[in-house]
Formats: sequence, structure tokens, C-alpha cells
Amino acid sequence: MRNMNHFHAGRGVYNCGLCHRLTRGAGDASVVELCGECYTLSVLENEYSDTGTLHPESIDHARATLAKLENLVGRPMAGHFNLPF
Ligand SMILES: [Zn+2]
Repeated sequence: MRNMNHFHAGRGVYNCGLCHRLTRGAGDASVVELCGECYTLSVLENEYSDTGTLHPESIDHARATLAKLENLVGRPMAGHFNLPF
């Protein structure tokens, strides 16, 4: 049996589950296989769904992140997230 050691080619690279961009994720985003932007939006979506509200700063953050994501993927992404705007 070959020793695969600690290095794995392509480790941590996947297509984001929401926007399908090829992503080299880090931390919690890689656990759920989302890109950084989709992960951020998912966290804010969960906060909104859990509490029924979002802090104005979180809404600003969500808007900015969504705009960045849509710019990156070149298509509307708002429909993928249940956010209050
Ligand atoms: Zn994504």
C-alpha cells in the first residue's frame, strides 16, 4: 500500500454548492463546500431565519457580499438566499 503522506493534490478544491465556482475553500466554508461569498451569505441567511431579523450592519454586509458574488459569477444570485431585501 502506498503511503499517501500528508499531501493530497487538489485537496480542498471543489465547486461551490451554490454558485458552482471552482473554489479553494478554507475553514467552515470548505466543510459545507461553499465559496467564501456564498458561505457568508448562508451564515447571514441562517441568522435571519433563526432570529427573524438582521442587524442593519449585517444587511449592509449581505448586500455588499451579494453584489460581489453576482459580479464574480455574472448572474443574479439573490434567489439562492432568503434575505430581507
Ligand atoms: Zn459560491
